[in-house]
Amino acid sequence: KANSYPAKKHGINPKYITEAALNVTKTLSEAGFEAYIVGGAVRDLMQGLQPKDFDVATNARPEQIVKLFRRARIIGRRFRIVHVPYKRDLIEVTTFRANTDNQDTDAHGRVLRDNEFGSLQDDAVRRDLSVNALYYDAKRQVVLDYHGGVGDLNDQVLRVIGDPETRFREDPVRMLRVLRFMAKLDFDVDEATLDAMEKCKPLLGNIPQARLFDETLKFFTTGHASASLDALQSHDFTEYLMPVLADVLDLDKGATWVRAMLEQTDARVNADKSVSPGFLFAALMWPKIEERWAFYQKNEPQIAALDMAIAEIINQSNNGDQIMITKRFVSDMREIWNLQPRLERRLPRQAINLVEHPRFRAAYDFLLLRAQLGHLGAGGLPVANWWGELYDAPPYDREQMINDLR
Ligand code: ATP
Ligand code: MG
Repeated sequence: KANSYPAKKHGINPKYITEAALNVTKTLSEAGFEAYIVGGAVRDLMQGLQPKDFDVATNARPEQIVKLFRRARIIGRRFRIVHVPYKRDLIEVTTFRANTDNQDTDAHGRVLRDNEFGSLQDDAVRRDLSVNALYYDAKRQVVLDYHGGVGDLNDQVLRVIGDPETRFREDPVRMLRVLRFMAKLDFDVDEATLDAMEKCKPLLGNIPQARLFDETLKFFTTGHASASLDALQSHDFTEYLMPVLADVLDLDKGATWVRAMLEQTDARVNADKSVSPGFLFAALMWPKIEERWAFYQKNEPQIAALDMAIAEIINQSNNGDQIMITKRFVSDMREIWNLQPRLERRLPRQAINLVEHPRFRAAYDFLLLRAQLGHLGAGGLPVANWWGELYDAPPYDREQMINDLR
């Protein structure tokens, strides 16, 4: 039933397969099990890209896998997967799974538990997209394809395996994955898949907000943030996932701000720098905060007005958005926002405390972005740069710089 592609056809460069992935598949097959590299790694390899991580699928049970690798651990509730650390790498090994009829589902068809083991064919059927269901046998150097994934890769098409509506009902998060891969791979989406997405959009409302937050984070922190926003916008998912962001994009300077920030984020990721979720979401919501801050300042002092704006928008996001931002990140966001007027004011007696604040770096980057986009007037950029210099300066020079302000 599977199409089998030899090296000459699939063109995978063995150099891109890490020692860790080779070692794990080899150990499994020497113990008498089947083992394949699967998922995004094979997709990337066939496009001549270096995968960022490797997943392995096998017919060995979790308990059997764990016995073969000294440091392996079983993790996960919804899916039991095995983490196999190898030197500084980590390989995720999963046992072939089946999409059986006796799954637990909710009233909308959503799969609640999915731990039924199966054959290689069963495992291929339950994967989301044809291009994500390719299996690479590293020893024989053969790609196995049960669902036309190789053809779809060549045609640059994303196609859900099976009936799209059924598959989106089983797990609505698959719709967000389609949008993410559109952005990442710049592929088209098969028409039946698109139609089903339009229809199944409301089902995202049944997904735990924490899981949606994790997916949303992937949109914006994996180097394709700007393209992801396009995908979300052109298929009308923004309004649904994050009404606060949809509002922001409708504001006067909102879209320019968000676009500039996401492009900067992509540049950071592509330069292997980290992106902090607190900074990211603080920036996504900022134009809305600014608008409400201006409103409250009609009757309140600057700092109190900002507190009121923050309380209002956080509250609105918690109640209105489908995603739920992790508490720790919300507290980072508050701090970044709260530091803005303090950095703008540059009071000499606060300067040292501010520059030593744990969130200073993020708040300063934020101020700099605002200044660069001309949101702080002509004096904005010199003030932002002053903070950058203060941060880098040794103690004596810091004192000097602060005294010069008095
Ligand atoms: P990335 O490049 O983002 O890592 P990926 O395809 O490897 O892309 P993962 O989230 O790492 O994505 O998942 C690994 C594989 O597991 C996928 O390629 C797919 O085969 C399968 N998979 C992941 N999530 C789902 C899902 N919700 N439904 C069905 N299959 C899934
Ligand atoms: Mg992956």
